[in-house]
Amino acid sequence: MINKVDKIWMDGEFIPWDEANVHVLTHTLHYGLGVFEGIRCYQCEDGRSAVFRLKEHVDRLFDSAHICQIKIPYSREEISEATLETLRINGLKEAYIRPVVFIGDGEMGIYVKDYNVKTSIAAWAWGAYLGDEGISNGIRVKVSSFTRQHVNISMTKAKVCGSYVNSMMAKREAILAGYDEALLLDNEGYVSEGSGENIFIVKDGIVKTTPKGSVLTGITRDSVMTILANEGITVKEESFTRDELYIAEEAFFTGTAAEITPIREVDNRTIGTGKPGAITKKVQELYFQAVKGGREKYGHWLSYL
Ligand SMILES: *Cc1c(COP(=O)(O)O)cnc(C)c1O
Repeated sequence: MINKVDKIWMDGEFIPWDEANVHVLTHTLHYGLGVFEGIRCYQCEDGRSAVFRLKEHVDRLFDSAHICQIKIPYSREEISEATLETLRINGLKEAYIRPVVFIGDGEMGIYVKDYNVKTSIAAWAWGAYLGDEGISNGIRVKVSSFTRQHVNISMTKAKVCGSYVNSMMAKREAILAGYDEALLLDNEGYVSEGSGENIFIVKDGIVKTTPKGSVLTGITRDSVMTILANEGITVKEESFTRDELYIAEEAFFTGTAAEITPIREVDNRTIGTGKPGAITKKVQELYFQAVKGGREKYGHWLSYL
């Protein structure tokens, strides 16, 4: 259940949570063309709160909209400010933030000449997406029977509402089979990503992540690559197979929601020792320090409330 707060920003104004509704003929509800973001705000060590990499998230929201030919009727500055204001007005110290841009009601059918674009930003307190236990000890993953979207079928670089049917199929299948998360392969059979997370593996001191191709290029993925580069470890963006993952010494998922979640098992094969490895733990430590303002080097990633 979502922890309700007072207000949601909708089309330029704050309205009570329970009144942030849409018509049943909302176009996006029927056909899925809409774009969204997932952003987190953390309470820092000094007591202030900061949104992590707000600029990059807002830029990606506009990129997603551009890919979908949706014109957001606000500027990047207005969306950024509305995001911060949504947190302030609700007194949220730590939150998950969900901006969504969608096509409202008024027209039906696949072709709509002029989109009735609606924009909203909601925020609420949301803990570890794959569980605190998952963050500490790692999760069990299943290679999905569902293939990750092909780059010319669904736009993989955009967070498009309808694309998540694929993710939902995969995740539900994994959970019903007793696992914590799904791992999707691309249409050529190489490892792609989780239902909402990018993946990293470590073998013989070499860290790899999937190349940009079929994956959503996560901001957490970029943060991890930057953090590791600053530690003298260059991450290779290189395709790998599921069996290369089976014999990796370490593996972990990254995402705004999932943060840095170690993977301890894939398809009933233990990864490494079955416990979060040294590089995974180092990345977790540095990432959580960075998001909470504990690392000066990454201070420019934070937008304080
Ligand atoms: C959002 C998302 C990610 C993670 O992106 P972040 O920017 O790190 O939150 C990875 N894969 C998919 C499919 C996603 O939707």
